[in-house]
Amino acid sequence: MPRPKKFRQFRELQEELGRSGAAILEDKAGGEDLIVDSPYSIRYIHSYAEDSPFFLGLAEGKLLGSRCTRRGCGFVFATPRGHCMVCGSPTEWTELPRSGRVHSWTTCHFGSEAFLRETPYNLALVEFDGAGSLLLARLKDCTEADVYVGMPVEARFASPPKYLITDVWFVPAR
Ligand SMILES: [Zn+2]
Repeated sequence: MPRPKKFRQFRELQEELGRSGAAILEDKAGGEDLIVDSPYSIRYIHSYAEDSPFFLGLAEGKLLGSRCTRRGCGFVFATPRGHCMVCGSPTEWTELPRSGRVHSWTTCHFGSEAFLRETPYNLALVEFDGAGSLLLARLKDCTEADVYVGMPVEARFASPPKYLITDVWFVPAR
């Protein structure tokens, strides 16, 4: 039996894992790490409870944030919250603009199983006019070198929806 093929970059061994189920990753110190492919699956039944309108909104191409109901506060959260983090009052749903700007970003060269095949991919914190907090989402259709702070971006929505946070992502604004 031949030894598994050896690679220096994790992203280069992923295809080999799919093909043979095993590969060796040479680490920076010259050590050899045996990597094996061990698929598993679980069925996870989960209630979004009070977050449900957010996910139902994504399915309709709407980005919902939350607005503090206290007069004189009115803080808008781009990542929805049941209660205001500034004053503690309850919030109500409010529709966010579908376009915003890159506040900050990172390029991921590794990720959890769901994102592994997309590496490298960009994650951005997006800021919106009228909102005081940010939304974390993937930034597609551009490479690391294209992205800059303040870059105008617009939302895209999965159709059909999967009712996951990955139903929304951003692309450079046209
Ligand atoms: Zn408030």
